[in-house]
Amino acid sequence: MKVLLLGGTGEARELAGQLADFEVVSSLAGRTRELRLPEGEVRVGGFGGASGLAQWLTENQVDAVVDATHPFAATMTEHAVEATRAVGVPLLVLRRPGWTAGSGDDWHWVETSDQAAALLPALGQRVLLTIGRQGLAAFAGTGLWTLARCVDPPEPEPTWCTLLLDRGPYAVDAELALFREHHIEVLVTKDSGGPQTAAKLTAARQLQVPVVLIQRPPSPTGVPVVESIAAAADWLRSY
Ligand code: NAP
Repeated sequence: MKVLLLGGTGEARELAGQLADFEVVSSLAGRTRELRLPEGEVRVGGFGGASGLAQWLTENQVDAVVDATHPFAATMTEHAVEATRAVGVPLLVLRRPGWTAGSGDDWHWVETSDQAAALLPALGQRVLLTIGRQGLAAFAGTGLWTLARCVDPPEPEPTWCTLLLDRGPYAVDAELALFREHHIEVLVTKDSGGPQTAAKLTAARQLQVPVVLIQRPPSPTGVPVVESIAAAADWLRSY
């Protein structure tokens, strides 16, 4: 059985490593400078929209697709839904659960980066922005001191914020030190979910720093969605 695994996440890499009994092709967008390659065959780069993906599925005789992209990679997921419907190939979406607030958290949910930026002045003057490179521009006009942490440098390099290039996983002690060093008063994050980048939320709770969370795009309807790597592997083995 030939499986196309849409990746770019830790879950996709781990799933690829567990599917030795399948013919798996992992697909990466190829945006980051240092690719973290999964086990097995890998292809890199866009397909050329939903129609390009549909053509790729047919030409490569794919039997099933697992979309294990990041919860905020909504365009890729939309294309996967459209392309698999067009060519009649089953699709499974693997989405790690989002984060939920606990006791002591001061979380503020918003739908967009613009809403997050508008909320910031009421919450703090020194901002830690951990939303990746895309969407930074929405925060350029806040006038607040901002530390933007990204894996790769945004292009063009923004002049309105201080950049910190780093890649998870992050530990709570290091996050606490970062908050303290820069006197962070408010954190902005997307609801990526998962343990790899959750330490900043623990640090914010411990330091009583408010957090602005950008909601996820909705999961696609009409396709099966699972939350764990084990459930995704089970789904494939049930075919
Ligand atoms: P996106 O906005 O949903 O997708 C934009 C385009 O990039 C897609 O239309 C597709 O191009 C191409 N693409 C995306 N994922 C691909 C994949 N796995 N294989 C081949 N082409 C892919 O995606 P994004 O938010 O820019 O994310 C890009 C990649 O980074 C994804 O693989 C995602 O898992 C990973 N990632 C994203 C985030 C995030 O916060 N968005 C965080 C961590 C990792 P075509 O239309 O040409 O096919």
